[in-house]
Amino acid sequence: MKVMKFGGTSVADRAAIERLIAIVRAERQAEAQTEGGDARGPIVVVSALSGVTDRLLGVAALAGSGDIEGARTSLRDLRARHVTVSEVITDASLRQPVLDFLHREFDDLERIVSALAVLQEVSPRWLDAIAATGEILSSQIVAAALTAHKLPAGWVDSRRAVVTDGEHTAAAPKFEETTAALMAHADPPLAAGRIPVMGGFVGATTSGLTTTLGRGGSDFSAAIVGACLGASEIQIWTDVDGMLTADPRLVKNPPVVPHLSFAEASELAYFGAKVLHPATIQPAVARNIPVRILNSQRATARGTLITAERPRTERALTAVASKKAVTVVDITSTRMLMAHGFLRRLFEVFERFKTPVDVITTSEVSVSVTIDDPRRLPPIIEALSEFAQVEREDQMAIVCVVGDGLHDDPRLAAQVLASVGDVPLRMVSQAASRRNITFVIRESDLPLALGRVHDKFFAAIATR
Ligand code: ADP
Ligand code: ASP
Ligand code: MG
Repeated sequence: MKVMKFGGTSVADRAAIERLIAIVRAERQAEAQTEGGDARGPIVVVSALSGVTDRLLGVAALAGSGDIEGARTSLRDLRARHVTVSEVITDASLRQPVLDFLHREFDDLERIVSALAVLQEVSPRWLDAIAATGEILSSQIVAAALTAHKLPAGWVDSRRAVVTDGEHTAAAPKFEETTAALMAHADPPLAAGRIPVMGGFVGATTSGLTTTLGRGGSDFSAAIVGACLGASEIQIWTDVDGMLTADPRLVKNPPVVPHLSFAEASELAYFGAKVLHPATIQPAVARNIPVRILNSQRATARGTLITAERPRTERALTAVASKKAVTVVDITSTRMLMAHGFLRRLFEVFERFKTPVDVITTSEVSVSVTIDDPRRLPPIIEALSEFAQVEREDQMAIVCVVGDGLHDDPRLAAQVLASVGDVPLRMVSQAASRRNITFVIRESDLPLALGRVHDKFFAAIATR
């Protein structure tokens, strides 16, 4: 049994959902042949229609600022878009209950938004309740559309099937409870030969409060479901041909990487390859389940396969990932740095303010770290200033070149750094695994640096 996750662009409109239906039908037919007519699954996990999560969070922000009219206008557009997309449910008797459901959801949202606009405050708990609507609705539409197209499906409410902690907007799954919940909610449709369809990104606490797994979290949902139910494969259907050697928004026509190791994929996702949510690989690793990235607009493309090990190829480097809008924090203390306990004290500050650090470098008198999320930086700087001088620099970028070859060829790291030429390097780091070399530069230098690294190490692959 496979888990097939379809991202926002893969359910964006009627045409996209019809492509999804064709892909699921092909999977059912292939399964039926191999299983001797006794097909189970797949389980389908969907994102919100593309752009909807952004719009819903926008509605919450408008409500928070007291702009009730703005919030209502956005909700009206969203309601109309979902009604239009519901036309993909070609059977009117199946479409009507979905329309009733979506009108109830939007009526509820309007009431919530009006109340929040009076309070002018939106707590993370309400943000989650609002944002989750996107996936709840898209999964309802897709389940009914599959059924209407003679692929009997069963809607699974992710708020019942995925159990998380209470960390709203970035909740973590509880695997044991989720396994039991999936057994109770996804297994019955499977056993009855129906295709379970559920929204990604969304879960709920044991006490029933709606949570979300963080932006881009539908990939993570698919992996959680795959791991809990022991799937044979987790498929991530998206709008590119697979994991590419670089971000296609920053480098022209990067080629596809046909095969990645789990470790390489984790590293790339963590350092900015948006095609995969950073947490996706962990559940797959735990159960050794292959992950495949595929293009829903070109279902015949081979995509990228991610497994525990990848075959050795002539390619020393696999891909380059990058992250913008990073802040570097320099912490300097001439007296304290070498004293034991200094680093503990320093990292305790970041921990206290729940701010993860990504890249770390040290010298005799200073430690530099990068952070992604500068929201809590002012109190962090205040706390660090009690025992060190602190400086921040915004608008920086991380470049992370990944490849198992870095481990085998000691010259490669220097060649990577040399390839960026005169672009000033602010920090450089290579960890014990030596699977990546990571450096920090100014964000304005990113296109130039990425282009240079890509030309030297990956462009040749494209012409092969
Ligand atoms: P989905 O909605 O299907 O989850 P996302 O927008 O989250 O899709 O992820 C796909 C996008 O990730 C691509 O359209 C591409 O712009 C971006 N991306 C960034 N880096 C990479 C990479 N190395 N390989 C492929 N896509 C990448
Ligand atoms: N819809 C959510 C988001 O936009 C989750 C996802 O698409 O993976 O972040
Ligand atoms: Mg995504």
